Amino acid sequence: MRPTPMTDARRTVYIETYGCQMNVSDSELMLGTLTAAGYEQAEGPEGADVILVNTCAIREHAETRVIGRLGELKRHMKAGTIMGVTGCMAQRLGPRLLDQARHVSLVIGPDGYRALPDLIDGARNGQRSAVTDFDLEEHYQDVLPIRGDRVKAWIPVQRGCDYRCTYCIVPTTRGPERSRDLGDVVREVRATAEQGITEVILLGQTVNSYRTGGHDFADLLRAVGAVDGIKRLRFTSPHPNDFSDRVIAAMAGVPAVCEHVHLPMQSGSSRTLKRMLRRYTREEYFDCVARLRAAIPGLALTTDVIVGFPGETDDEFAETISAVEAIGFEDAFTFKFSAREGTPATRMPTELTVPDEVASARLDQLITTVRGGSRVRNLGRLGERHEVLVERTAKRGGHLMARTRDFKTVLIPADGYAPGDYLTVELTGTTGSTFTGAPVSSRAALPMAG
Ligand code: SF4
Repeated sequence: MRPTPMTDARRTVYIETYGCQMNVSDSELMLGTLTAAGYEQAEGPEGADVILVNTCAIREHAETRVIGRLGELKRHMKAGTIMGVTGCMAQRLGPRLLDQARHVSLVIGPDGYRALPDLIDGARNGQRSAVTDFDLEEHYQDVLPIRGDRVKAWIPVQRGCDYRCTYCIVPTTRGPERSRDLGDVVREVRATAEQGITEVILLGQTVNSYRTGGHDFADLLRAVGAVDGIKRLRFTSPHPNDFSDRVIAAMAGVPAVCEHVHLPMQSGSSRTLKRMLRRYTREEYFDCVARLRAAIPGLALTTDVIVGFPGETDDEFAETISAVEAIGFEDAFTFKFSAREGTPATRMPTELTVPDEVASARLDQLITTVRGGSRVRNLGRLGERHEVLVERTAKRGGHLMARTRDFKTVLIPADGYAPGDYLTVELTGTTGSTFTGAPVSSRAALPMAG
């Protein structure tokens, strides 16, 4: 660690984060690295000594937005401010970004954050750098993250991905899969619990394929679930093919593991899945759902679905709709396919392209199906009692936002409760997607998991 400089005022850094939770977690690591080097977090870009934009490359829209934002942020730069772009878009575009945005001095991919303080010093001396080498040993294990959330902690346990789904840029931007040492993960979880955080979410691109030093994801769940003070344990995102019987048994057997799995499906058609190179069929996905549900009563499932993938016929799309109805997802992230430069899907014959108006109509139908199903199920849940963890103040005045173990959002009256509190609520109303709840007991009265 570098010593804190003995200067009058500490330098400030503002980090703006786009994209997935892995990026949120990486921003916490970047802030940890820079804090150890003497920087202080700035709440806004105005006047910050360093501005970092941590980017996502998953779809073109995300990148266009970042380019626009970089232009806006230029207005907030004072003399000497260093502007850097990090994350997946930085990895994908590398030095091209330096040419595109002359006010950007640093372009740093996800494995280069340890060098941030030195690179910033170099930029002050006029060196513009693009750092995009993969480092297969890099897990930032000795970096103390500065967390933005005081109720739950995102713990990276795996970086990169060895699957090669044909629509996905992640293997290019984050490199091959590698898992972090189990003891190291447990140490971080223990430190987190000592700070009073009771929920952890294990993060990885295909988190349940975690494997290192003879340990698999089942071992990791058991080890993390045994840490004193951890009452809720979640993970995201798993791959359906990596739910071994051992992993499912650990999920069922570890009390802290919550009854919710985000299980990306992408399509309900085996033919589409094959072109996506998802490596499972519709039937295998259904089998995975059945095995999870048999082992974990009350399991809630959410998913990701892409419509308009090249070659998707009306029949294939109808299979996606029927899968969504049959499985009964609580919610879904739904996307219209967008081709990413550098992915195999861009090399598919152009006659397979699904016209935009067709893809848009399918997206609308899918969203209506997901919302309709969850509305009916949620109306049927009114009157149920659930343990919730209060996460934060709600946008609706006088209310707090809390979550059930199976990931439902419940708004409760503030009534003296605070983020981090557990209580039991009765579900009293629903908008169709979120609930309102009335407290029926306080934390002290609850038998807690873990
Ligand atoms: S499993 Fe597929 S979709 Fe997920 S990160 Fe890897 S390549 Fe991308």
